[in-house]
Amino acid sequence: MSSEPMLSIDDVSVAFTDGGGLFDIFSDSETVRAVNDVSLTLGEQETLTLIGESGCGKSTLGKTAIGAQQPTSGTVRYRGQDIWKARNDAGSASIPFDEIRSALQIIHQDPGSALNPNQRLRTSLMIPLKQWYPDLSREERVERIHTLFEQVGMSPPDDYLNRYPHQLSGGETQRAVLVRALLLNPDVILADEAISALDVSLRVEMMDLMLELQELFQTSYLFISHDLSNARYIAEKSGGRIAVMYLGEIVEIGSVDEIMENPQHPYTKALQWATANLYDDGGDATFPLRKIDVPDPTDLPSGCHFHPRCPEAREVCQRQHPERIYIDDEETNYARCFRADEQHEYWNSPEITSGSSVDSS
Ligand code: SF4
Repeated sequence: MSSEPMLSIDDVSVAFTDGGGLFDIFSDSETVRAVNDVSLTLGEQETLTLIGESGCGKSTLGKTAIGAQQPTSGTVRYRGQDIWKARNDAGSASIPFDEIRSALQIIHQDPGSALNPNQRLRTSLMIPLKQWYPDLSREERVERIHTLFEQVGMSPPDDYLNRYPHQLSGGETQRAVLVRALLLNPDVILADEAISALDVSLRVEMMDLMLELQELFQTSYLFISHDLSNARYIAEKSGGRIAVMYLGEIVEIGSVDEIMENPQHPYTKALQWATANLYDDGGDATFPLRKIDVPDPTDLPSGCHFHPRCPEAREVCQRQHPERIYIDDEETNYARCFRADEQHEYWNSPEITSGSSVDSS
């Protein structure tokens, strides 16, 4: 077993450029920095939850982590092997790219992208098994699918395997998609808003099932959600960590206790405030942001990108970009906020009075 983390993401950025092409003479090109300078690791059987508003870059980061999106800069390694080097220079790779691909699986919010609506489940699930395990006999493939259906509570399996996706309920569909992801016995599953479309009552059931199967398959999860109460539930039950994203950056990452009981970043506090059942305001329901609007990702604010909305912003926040300030000795958990550093000049910087502009110029 390698001593390397299962996944290791170092200084990764992903940018997309729109317009300004050869025949697009009427518009300027615009670059969206979807992911900015992100570093994190995912260990064996760890659950790491990425949380943040829509459009903050969670999905792009998740896809980059499993090798489905190439980073613009930085490296993504699986058990120490640079994923993109394995793909582009197979001769130098200690782990073949195909092996990496089958080890890193995804569950989408939209199950239609995993299950062909025109095929019975049996056919949809036999195809990847044939492709990745050509040495298995037909009987062995069928047995593997049956066992997985039993394990996700879809029994008797034959009743479900003869159905088309539209003949399943929402919960059954997500279970079938989970089976599709587990077929290849992956090391990591990216669950991208995998439970968001389910009724609230089914979400907890699905998260419990995912955690049960994590034990059985020794899988790690990168769990993406816009809902802090779901993130808290799965992180608490798995002993995992939570990473908070804002405008392409991880602004805070820590254990569930650190994030929920002692958040360092004002944006984490704002997410808690906005999440029903999490915030006990003691009677003070002051809205914890200066502005509701999220800045344009093609024109990021100067200094700390959160400063136009931050109720704690000071003058220094308008001109300095916060680096990662580590809050543990192992340097895995951090916050990108000057307030996490007691020695920072932030504490002597003039406060921005209410009504004064904190927009970038
Ligand atoms: S660095 Fe300044 S603006 Fe940014 S989150 Fe911290 S206090 Fe707010």
